[in-house]
Amino acid sequence: MGFYDVYKQWEQKDVDGLLKSVTSDDVLRTLAKTRLHEQDYLTLLAPAAQEHLEAMAQRAHDQTVAQFGKTVVLYTPMYLSNYCVNHCLYCGFNARNNISRKHLDAGEVEEEARRISETGLKHILILTGESRTWASMDYLKTCVAILSRYFTSIAIEIYPLETQEYRELITAGVDAMTLYQETYNEALYDRLHVKGPKKNYRFRLDAPERACEARMRSVNIGALLGLYKGRHESFYTGLHAWYLQKHYPEVDISVSFPRMRPHTGSFNPDYPVDDVNLVQAITALRLFMPRAGITMSTRENAEFRNQILPLGVTRMSAGSTTVVGGHTQKNQDTGQFDISDERTVDQMALSLSSLGYQPVFKDWQAIKA
Ligand code: SF4
Repeated sequence: MGFYDVYKQWEQKDVDGLLKSVTSDDVLRTLAKTRLHEQDYLTLLAPAAQEHLEAMAQRAHDQTVAQFGKTVVLYTPMYLSNYCVNHCLYCGFNARNNISRKHLDAGEVEEEARRISETGLKHILILTGESRTWASMDYLKTCVAILSRYFTSIAIEIYPLETQEYRELITAGVDAMTLYQETYNEALYDRLHVKGPKKNYRFRLDAPERACEARMRSVNIGALLGLYKGRHESFYTGLHAWYLQKHYPEVDISVSFPRMRPHTGSFNPDYPVDDVNLVQAITALRLFMPRAGITMSTRENAEFRNQILPLGVTRMSAGSTTVVGGHTQKNQDTGQFDISDERTVDQMALSLSSLGYQPVFKDWQAIKA
């Protein structure tokens, strides 16, 4: 049984009705448990849990410190190419948007790598739009070979691959992948992805599991918050992460909570997630999955990232840009979306230290055969 079957089982249960039926006493009973199950997680995501948010936050903090200490791994994204064949209504890179398209050549990748590595970062996340012409497997392997000389951990956030392709990238030097389902609501997913290979909901949904099968060290998933009801998306994201952790205990499973940001195009989210709901989502996930990593990107502003830090965050981006070549090139073209926290890596590290956290630049080094 794959995760799609788990999703389908829950879809038949009226998740809205279950969320509404949760009482304050149900939440208190759940908070008294030491190990939580799927129904408990749903209870903590319910509207009734908001009056216990302080208790949830305290427990989330304690569990995070017990599992991870007061450490935060830093990384930065590097956009390699914004060519994309998909028409995702909510994205600035979508094939119909009239933006300047760019693709880094090997020399430019090296230049970006050198510049980023001067900040001390050892973890990099490479991103591309979906184009097997402009971001082919051969191109990705070439980029990874260059980046391996500068970074000890290379994560990909690209289009979903077959298991064998994940294996090939792992052999080339990739050790981590991020893939957002965008929305777990299958019907809405179909409407938002107008054209292109991304329309295939199942192929995307199963990609994190294919990466696990390929023995990826670390797999990070999430939903793009704002597209559909936040509680639903958080619930299915957590269930998905829990499914992966249960079936692939050797893989480091983590979750992101990306909220929609302004971008080129006219799409407005129907279900914006406010700060309180985001705090609830993060603390509920931490209580449900004490061992899972939680990533907080520069989509969120500096003040909010500082505040949310103690509640479960284990990885943060810094010195970010969503522009192809944005770490080195002066001509700043259109980014995928606007970022909110513009702190440099140095500023981020200082800020973490001042809050009593240790900024971690390197927590992974592959053993070369
Ligand atoms: S979300 Fe990804 S696949 Fe969709 S248009 Fe943007 S870059 Fe392309």
